[in-house]
Order: sequence, then structure tokens, then C-alpha cells
Amino acid sequence: LAQKYKGSEYTVWAEFIELAAKYQPLNLGQGFADFAAPEHVTKNLAEVAVSEKPLLQQYTRGYGHLRLVNVLSKIYSPLVGREIDPKSQIITTAGAYEALYCAILAHVNPGDEVILIEPFYDCYEPMVRAAGGKPVFIPLRPTKTRGKVNSSDWKLDKKELNNAFSKRTKMFVLNTPHNPTGKVFSKDELLTIANLCKKWNVILLADEVYEWMVYEPVKHTRMCTLPDMWERTITVGSVGKTFSVTGWKIGWAFGPSNLIHNMQVVHQNNVNSINTPTQEAVARSLETELDRVNSPDCYLVSLARELKEKRDLLAGYLTEIGMVPTIPEGGYFMIVDWTPLAHNAKLSEEVDTYKDFKFAKWMSKNVKIQGIPPSAFYSVPHKKLGENYIRYCFIKDDDTLNKAGQILRSWA
Ligand code: PMP
Ligand code: GLN
Repeated sequence: LAQKYKGSEYTVWAEFIELAAKYQPLNLGQGFADFAAPEHVTKNLAEVAVSEKPLLQQYTRGYGHLRLVNVLSKIYSPLVGREIDPKSQIITTAGAYEALYCAILAHVNPGDEVILIEPFYDCYEPMVRAAGGKPVFIPLRPTKTRGKVNSSDWKLDKKELNNAFSKRTKMFVLNTPHNPTGKVFSKDELLTIANLCKKWNVILLADEVYEWMVYEPVKHTRMCTLPDMWERTITVGSVGKTFSVTGWKIGWAFGPSNLIHNMQVVHQNNVNSINTPTQEAVARSLETELDRVNSPDCYLVSLARELKEKRDLLAGYLTEIGMVPTIPEGGYFMIVDWTPLAHNAKLSEEVDTYKDFKFAKWMSKNVKIQGIPPSAFYSVPHKKLGENYIRYCFIKDDDTLNKAGQILRSWA
């Protein structure tokens, strides 16, 4: 294994997907929907697959299938208040993962520092290290741990935030709505970060894959819309999240043409171009949503409405048995303090270093319900901060969530 990947061998996903396959728990672990995607979306892919236009089965434009970048520009231009050029300011990628990879590899030189907020989506760290960069971690800290806890109670410490920046800082990765806490960063919080990025001349990588899943009355603020932030912000999106089709693995990034150009260079020397039929199907599907963007039927709006009810359903079950969920304002994960019920789990039967890993594994095997241990989303020195929690995914059929309720009730 090349030096740059030494230390990045472990991934929580491989271990927990394997565990789910082996013990068949009710799966609230890895994030994906267990219900059907919107019908027009899957139909579009079926139609493209049998299309009489032979070129739809061949390579398409490497930086992004034209029909797709065109509709992305139509969707995002009004949202960010400027005309986004589809060819030079958007790139499509193999999932949001590849967009993050291109953004990091295209800008981070050996020795550069990249600030990551803990808990962080786990792939950021190995990507920064592969570029030779040095991650600098700052944790969100819960200001409340008992009673009704909300994702907005998780906050950055201003001093720790200030201290993370230096002349070595090249990039700041901001994920809002946030996986795993569900925090939707407020405009004030974003302005503080934006001002520091401007002061230290830092690129802001905005992972906004959960952009459509924000729960009333909270509003999502896009980093690139804050004063003088467009020039330094790369915004990342995902069709897997947008249409509940995580297996499609199409993503995108948009931003100023100089930064997108740099990403194009990494992309063209990596995968070069991504799947044509899926991009065409996504383009057609987004065109349909764009046509009904102001209607309550638009999937980009209706999904959040449904998810809010699912969030409350699952949170209700967890609260009833004495666990303490942090109510998320966005995204489709919930972190839950399980320690009030620690006496019900035989943690000594598991050999892991961290308590949350022991709990998550013991529950998968014995109670048959799976969640993800959040210490996987912390740097080694801070893993303790995640140990009291488990992450549950709630983009599931109500039947699944009711079943989760039953399982937890009979265990508690
Ligand atoms: N960023 C975050 C915060 C995520 O939760 C995910 C989901 N896997 C991704 C990026 C990657 O998205 P994709 O599946 O489109 O690669
Ligand atoms: N984003 C999803 C999650 O956080 C999927 C993760 C993955 O498969 N790498 O669960």
C-alpha cells in the first residue's frame, strides 16, 4: 500500500455492511432509503436504457453530460443569485465522493492544512491525507445532553475555531446540513466561518448533499451566497440524496470557474467521464422537478415534509425508552445518547476500543437493530466525544420505523 494511504485502511462502512449481512439486523446503519425512488426517476433510466438514440450508450462529455449541467445551472442559478455557467462552473462526478476527492486533490499540497469539523463525514480525512495535507480538527460540542436536545445545541467553540486557522490553512470543509448530527448551520455561524476564510485566504468546500432535507421552520443557507464567498466556495451535491437513489452514484460540484477548472484536471486524469445513461436520466428527472418547483408535489420539497414526520416517529420511540436523541434540523440521521440504557447491553462481550463500537455491534448481533458508532467520525484524540452516541438513519418506511420501535421497546 502506498504511503499516502497508510493509516486509512479502516472504514466503518465495510465493517458495518458486513455485520448487517451476517446478523441481518433491522438496518438503520448506512444511510439509504428502503422505499421506492420517485417513479418518474426510475422510469427515465429505463427509457434511456432502451432508447433508440445509440449515442446515449456511449461516452459523454467528460466534465459533465450537457443536458445535466444545463439543468443544474437552471436549478442553482436562482438559488445562489447569479448565472452559473454550465460548462465552466459545474462538473459532474461519480457521486459526491468524487466531487470531494477532486476538490481536495486539486487544491491541497503536501503540508497544507485542512480544517475539518468533528464529527466529520469519514472520507474527508483520508482524502486530505492522500493529498499530503494535514487535517486540523475542531469538534462541535453539545451544550446540552439531557432533556430535549436539538442539533442546534451542538456548537463550535469560537476560540477553538479561531485557533484552527493559520497561514498554513488551505481549505475548510463545511458539511451543512450535517451528517451525523443533523445540524443546519445558522447564517451567523456561517458568517463567522466565512469571515475567517476570507481573512486567511482559505477555500471553502461546502458539502451540501442534504440541501433539500431541512425541516421547517429551519432554513438552509448556502455558503456560496454569503458576501464575497462565491469566489472561494465549491459546493457539492448528490443525486443519491436528492432522489433517494444512493446506488446511482452521481454527484456534482459548482463554483467559480478557476476552482472548477482545477477539479476538471483531477477528474480527467482519474475517471475522465462518468456513466452517460444515468446522467441523462437524472437530467430528465431534474427537468421535471424544475417544472414543478413551486408545487408541493416537487420531490425536492415533499421529501423533507415526509422525513420530518419520520424523524419525529423515531425520536418518539427513542425518548419513550429513555434514550436521548438529538433532534436533527436537517439530513436523515439522528445521533442518540444510549448511555441511560447502558445496563441493558453486555458491552463486555465485545472487544472494541470504543464504547460506541461495542454498543453498536452488540445491538446488531443481539437485539437485531443496527446503527453506526459516531466515534468513527472523530480523530483519534477526540473519539471519546462520540462514545456515548449511536447514529440511526430514518429515511425508512414507517413500517420499518415502527418495527424499530417494537424492537427497542422489548429490549429496554
Ligand atoms: N457527503 C456526505 C455528508 C454524505 O453523507 C455522503 C453520503 N454517502 C456523501 C458525501 C457521498 O455522497 P455520494 O453517495 O453521492 O457519493
Ligand atoms: N452517506 C451515507 C452514510 O453516511 C453512506 C456512507 C457510505 O456508504 N460511505 O451512511
